[in-house]
Amino acid sequence: MIEAPWCGVCGYAFPSKAIDPNQALCGACRRGLYRFDVARAYGPFQDSLREIIHHLKYGRHPSLARPLAVRLTSVYEAHRHSLQADWLIPVPLHPARERERGFNQAVEISRHFSRLAGVPLAWRWLLRTRPTQVQAGLTRRERRSNVNGAFDVSKGAEIQGKTLLVIDDVFTTGATLNECARILKQRGAAKVAVLSVARVIKE
Ligand SMILES: [Zn+2]
Repeated sequence: MIEAPWCGVCGYAFPSKAIDPNQALCGACRRGLYRFDVARAYGPFQDSLREIIHHLKYGRHPSLARPLAVRLTSVYEAHRHSLQADWLIPVPLHPARERERGFNQAVEISRHFSRLAGVPLAWRWLLRTRPTQVQAGLTRRERRSNVNGAFDVSKGAEIQGKTLLVIDDVFTTGATLNECARILKQRGAAKVAVLSVARVIKE
């Protein structure tokens, strides 16, 4: 689990324990860089959590989505006041990438999490309309421009005035999740929260 103290908005875990958790904001949130209202994650992207996610995505083991969804449910229960939502929105892959992998890990995790947490899953309301480079190896700025305008909201999506919870496997710099939140809010969502299994924490 991510250990306190963490940023009140994006959930970034501070390496130093000498920070007052009641008024802690990270640099990115002090500068107002994120469009989502709140983000939380189960644990740091390291050790066994990193291995499980890697097996799920690249070893093609979609069955690993369930134990990850169980971990997400524990975070959801602990932060229910800030994460409660009308709909779950998995971060979409571009159709070409999804075909290549055979599944979308965010959808697989969301399907289990939806049943466990009792929040309905919105299928294909958020679309990835432009293929993007793999984010690994890109700087924070490059990641932002790589995903800029890469998403759209489908015509039938009922997000007007709704509270949405966007689900992904890993929160790295937040560029992808931020872009998802930006378009969802632009199209009328009242609130966008983010929940990921893992969070990249710089040492
Ligand atoms: Zn923050």
